[in-house]
Amino acid sequence: MTAAPSPSAPLRLLAVHAHPDDESSKGAATMAMYAASRVDVLVATCTDGSRGDIQNPAMEDKPHPKRDMAGARRLEMDAAAKVLGVRQRWLGFVDSGLPEGDPLPPLPPGCFALQPLELAAAPLVRLVRDFKPHVILSYDENGGYPHPDHIMAHRVAVEAFAAAGDPARYPGIGQPWAPSKLYYDRAFSPERFRALHFALEEAGLQSPYAERLAAWLEADAEGHTPPMPTHATTTQIECGDFFEARDDALRCHRTQVDPEGFFFAVSAAMQRKVWPWEDYSLIESRVSSELPEKDLFAGLR
Ligand SMILES: [Zn+2]
Repeated sequence: MTAAPSPSAPLRLLAVHAHPDDESSKGAATMAMYAASRVDVLVATCTDGSRGDIQNPAMEDKPHPKRDMAGARRLEMDAAAKVLGVRQRWLGFVDSGLPEGDPLPPLPPGCFALQPLELAAAPLVRLVRDFKPHVILSYDENGGYPHPDHIMAHRVAVEAFAAAGDPARYPGIGQPWAPSKLYYDRAFSPERFRALHFALEEAGLQSPYAERLAAWLEADAEGHTPPMPTHATTTQIECGDFFEARDDALRCHRTQVDPEGFFFAVSAAMQRKVWPWEDYSLIESRVSSELPEKDLFAGLR
């Protein structure tokens, strides 16, 4: 059973991510904000990122990632965690890579996405029982975007949320702990892209989102712009003061992120003005809180 923490007990937030760098592109400002307000924040990274392609032209000829991508990404992850002020743990799985081609090639043997669910979820269940988070952040059923590791990260987070508190499940790996709330991240919230797009146009600046918006317009027969979300936003975390920290953390993942790219198209200052939040859907809760929320720990303080 979970009990509301006493005023002196620290609140704990666990974010479950597929690869090193996902923590910096999804919910990073939220984590930095909570860490700065003395919440204990832990990032669980499911895979080693060993099958990531080099996305930054400036890193293409560097020997370290060529020789040892996972090792290079460990260093990047350490730097990003420092910037965000959070702790981080590896769950020990091998990156599945993003299959490309027609037909799609099979996933590589032994990768994270091919693990049976109970095997894939066990390290996370152990971590939940050890760290005792009040709140877990995860991706939606599509993984936010359909990378096989993101979908698996979603599945293990849901499994750990459901099973970690049950003494009959995963016996022998720690004392049961039931986290109180499970959220899905809405980092790619269409409402946010739409707001940023129109703000950029209004300021006479070029919008990197025009293509995405056009695709939505075509995809949604009912004419909704943006399309109706699978999970609506229930919770908006005001964290604009930490947008620079988020961008700095993302830039630490030098093999994966082009500093001239999409993520940095809109200045932190403009984002603060137009959309100073990160958005979440509350999916399950073992405490009561009133929606909409402005705090992931609503009902727990
Ligand atoms: Zn990823």
